[in-house]
Amino acid sequence: MSPGPARAALTEFVLKVHARCDLACDHCYVYEHADQSWRRRPVRMTPDVLRAAAGRIAEHAAAHGLPDVTVVLHGGEPLLLGPDGLGQVLAELRRVIGPVTRLRMGMQTNGVLLSERFCDLLAEHDVAVGVSLDGDRAANDRHRRFRSGASSYDQVLRALALLRRPAYRRLWSGLLCTVDVRSDPVAVYEALLAQEPPRIDFLLPHGTWDNPPWRPAAGDTAYARWLRAVHDRWRADGRPVPVRLFDSLLSTARGGPSGTEWLGLDPIDLAVIETDGEWEQADSLKTAYDGAPATGMTVFSHTADDVAASALLARRRSGRAGLSDECRRCPVVDQCGGGLFAHRYGAGHFDNPSVYCADLKELIVHVNENPPEPVRLDAGLPDDFIDRLAALTGDRVAIGRLVEAQIAIVHALLAEVADPLPTGGAGADGWAALTALDRSAPESVARIAAHPYVRAWAVDCLAGTGTGARQGPDYLSAIAAAAALDAGTPVHLAVPVRGGRLHLPTVGTVLLPEVADGTARVEIGPDSLRVRAGDVTVAVNPGTAGGPRWWPTRRLVAQDVSVLLEDGDPHRDCHRLPAGDRLGDEGAARWAATFAAAWQVIRDEVPGHAEELRAGLRAVVPLRRSGAGVSEASTARQAFGGVAATETDAGSLAVLLVHEFQHSKMNALLDVCDLVDGTRPIDITVGWRPDPRPAEAVLHGIYAHAAVADIWRIRTDRQVDGAQAVYRRYRDWTAEAIGALQRADALTPAGSRLVRQVARSMSGWPS
Ligand code: SF4
Repeated sequence: MSPGPARAALTEFVLKVHARCDLACDHCYVYEHADQSWRRRPVRMTPDVLRAAAGRIAEHAAAHGLPDVTVVLHGGEPLLLGPDGLGQVLAELRRVIGPVTRLRMGMQTNGVLLSERFCDLLAEHDVAVGVSLDGDRAANDRHRRFRSGASSYDQVLRALALLRRPAYRRLWSGLLCTVDVRSDPVAVYEALLAQEPPRIDFLLPHGTWDNPPWRPAAGDTAYARWLRAVHDRWRADGRPVPVRLFDSLLSTARGGPSGTEWLGLDPIDLAVIETDGEWEQADSLKTAYDGAPATGMTVFSHTADDVAASALLARRRSGRAGLSDECRRCPVVDQCGGGLFAHRYGAGHFDNPSVYCADLKELIVHVNENPPEPVRLDAGLPDDFIDRLAALTGDRVAIGRLVEAQIAIVHALLAEVADPLPTGGAGADGWAALTALDRSAPESVARIAAHPYVRAWAVDCLAGTGTGARQGPDYLSAIAAAAALDAGTPVHLAVPVRGGRLHLPTVGTVLLPEVADGTARVEIGPDSLRVRAGDVTVAVNPGTAGGPRWWPTRRLVAQDVSVLLEDGDPHRDCHRLPAGDRLGDEGAARWAATFAAAWQVIRDEVPGHAEELRAGLRAVVPLRRSGAGVSEASTARQAFGGVAATETDAGSLAVLLVHEFQHSKMNALLDVCDLVDGTRPIDITVGWRPDPRPAEAVLHGIYAHAAVADIWRIRTDRQVDGAQAVYRRYRDWTAEAIGALQRADALTPAGSRLVRQVARSMSGWPS
């Protein structure tokens, strides 16, 4: 279900490619419930039905301008097609639908027949695989057995072991578990969790008012009790895996979408195509009465629009208006939405609440009253912050929160530097000016504090190392002078001069060779800057080009972005690679042109990252060219928003900026959130380095390489020469590292959540 731009359109199609199953689960709604239409249908979808079905989907996508559609192979058991048959189906779908829209393919399977050959095929066609498993052996064997009565448990576990392999891990979309209240809820949950699925989905067994689900006693809300127990355990565990049912309730509690037809008021956008080409509604309707899902339409005679307009489907798409009076009056209707449509059936109509009404009410109230413990985040960051940063689609708002958190950290560092200063010195005067400015012009102080190399100075200064120690606490006055200039507030301050240079962060450098090391007087007027040292006076108009004594900090400007070309700040040399010297006019002009072209590439290829960079990138530091002449780049732990790079071409700079800013974000996230469990230090082998890496470095690599893979994925789509090989390399490195990190159990719940979200963002990518 996706609330896409064309709300009247269907976006998800379930294809019944094989109508029989190798298992005989007694709770299966296809064979064991009221609708028995499977008996009259062909065993497998024929090529002409498949071609017509694919054609209808493509036609629908084109007519509605859909950016993507999802096709889920279902049965019966789709793996009964065999590898060749399945390959033909997947190839045909790609051939017909692929040229029209982005095709996302999925498959729901019992897993019994899953083999390496199948997995290779599914990987080749990028098919997300959901597997049905009802929990531990006891729970699973209660229902999911072969016709002979034999257990399917071991075969399914073998399939899951295959899907956990690094090569196939990205295919796995999750586990589907049908609830049986006779099973121990926590044992079921733990057994599912032990399989390390990317997601768990709990389904209530289908039933209606005419055929109600089994309960220990009439009126007993056993299903609510069972799900509450699972919810409480999941919550206490720190929500180690997404559980669709609970995530859906948490989302709708905040006014978000439910993401499932089981709950909420999201419009239904799904239709089923049977093996004979009949259009049907959701499979769950099979539980209502014989013929309930039927539409009387086929792919040969009717379009998907005809199906969407059919009376029962239109009603299921009408949200609150399509509910019973009792549901419309219900206080939790926005979250429940009357439950699954099929479960409302009774006495010949659907104008009823769900047969699970009392359970749903009790569960919803319980989940609302026991919201998840927030992932531990400092600085009052919202609970969904991790998800927003992990999504590769870009989130300007989340970056804004990171910037705020960084500014708060810098403020604290400045206060720490100022703490022991004796009164009357340059540092103490600078601190006094800074605190006064913070009251009168806090935005100006924040703008200077957000400069990456102010923090770099403060950390060095406190540690007594590097250029930070050389400038010492007196540099507080340089920061104050820069903030005063930004605010247009007059101040006079003594500012340190080191090596004949006086630097004001974000503003520029005054050259005072006659001073060498000492201080100079900086006089800031409403719109002037004057520097005095002995007999020398330098009057600077910061907005003008440089002169013999004045090196202004220049900017790289492109369309909707402007960042500093930082080649003068003495604290910029905190990166892994050495910073270059001040650029001449020609070199600066080259950088400006390359940056503008790179920005166009970023906007064009990954606009979400452009949004993030615009919100968080502050400065680009030119690096000294390496002897090998290769493009290199770096970020520094203490310099959020600063990226250092060697001069290169626009396409490469675009990749370097996105790549390094991911590291910068990760550094900032680590400032506000524990992502790695420090009690379990471990080194992990990764694809991009010969030496095993600690968990934090692997996390960095995953985050950065996923973004790089994303760029090369787009370039592959655009048929850029050699792009596919690069895309695959980064994607595989990332996917393998995700698997290794998850197996290593070295992350906190917040770290696990981030990694899962990155994996989810990558789950629809092509092989
Ligand atoms: S809890 Fe019951 S009455 Fe309320 S919306 Fe759900 S099914 Fe309807």
